[in-house]
Amino acid sequence: MRTGSCLCGAVKYEVHGPLRDVVACHCEQCRKQTGNYMSATAAQDQDFRISEGRGLKWYHSSDTAKRGFCGECGSVLFWKGEGRDYTAVTAGSLDGASGLKLEGHIFCESAGDYYEIAGGGYQKRRWRKDD
Ligand SMILES: [Zn+2]
Ligand SMILES: [Zn+2]
Repeated sequence: MRTGSCLCGAVKYEVHGPLRDVVACHCEQCRKQTGNYMSATAAQDQDFRISEGRGLKWYHSSDTAKRGFCGECGSVLFWKGEGRDYTAVTAGSLDGASGLKLEGHIFCESAGDYYEIAGGGYQKRRWRKDD
């Protein structure tokens, strides 16, 4: 089992199954929310459990997705797409060493102009399933 939390501990979670490798998303919404870009792993919903939800808030960032964060300390934690069977989880919120690799980058078309897209495998213009 893997665990993670926000900075203040008002949100904690458990993952009782495999975690996807990390995907870095450079879309405008991730850049606004994180202040840079979002690096997230993902857990299947059946393996994912909120063990402390006191601070958990969900923001509906579009008609098809919502973003979970801590309303106490502001930590960016989750991304949940409507109809998807997984929850994306920010890699930095995991406790301890992640044991994961950077799989690639998505929404590179929206990346900031002040950094290089570095490390990891693919660089997709938009979604990871795209060419
Ligand atoms: Zn918190
Ligand atoms: Zn994004």
